[in-house]
Amino acid sequence: MAIVRRKTAQRDVVLHVLTIAGRPLSPQEIFDIAKDQVPSLGIATVYRNIKTLTENGTLKPVELPGTVQRYELAGKHHHHHFHCNTCGKVYEIEGCSMQHDDHPNVPEDFEVDDHVVVLYGRCADCTQHEAVKENTAPSQPANAPSQLAGMVSQP
Ligand SMILES: [Zn+2]
Ligand SMILES: [Zn+2]
Repeated sequence: MAIVRRKTAQRDVVLHVLTIAGRPLSPQEIFDIAKDQVPSLGIATVYRNIKTLTENGTLKPVELPGTVQRYELAGKHHHHHFHCNTCGKVYEIEGCSMQHDDHPNVPEDFEVDDHVVVLYGRCADCTQHEAVKENTAPSQPANAPSQLAGMVSQP
């Protein structure tokens, strides 16, 4: 991991952490990672930097139903998100399987401008952890609703 130069550390650490992580992060997640690199960092500084970077168009808020607001770098291509029900992390899923004129069940004469897809389940870290646990402990009941994919069409 690159060393953050001291002069710009406070200001750039938010951007640096989000770039390295490659997934949307909440202010608390950014702070937890950033304070390892900049021990003098306060969470108020993280919030202030997020605000500035969002206002100048560098960051974009990621709002998923029922989760804290996270941020990602702005200007990415259209993509979807994956929310891990076990560890709570949100991941970016590249690309889109839905064609622009191929939205299911949209009534005739309705025009879709955008859509948001959130997948819910367990991330690779958590499924691997589960596999280890299953070998040593009695198996847990399947968590059926966690496989649901939610879709919200925006106006
Ligand atoms: Zn997970
Ligand atoms: Zn899509």
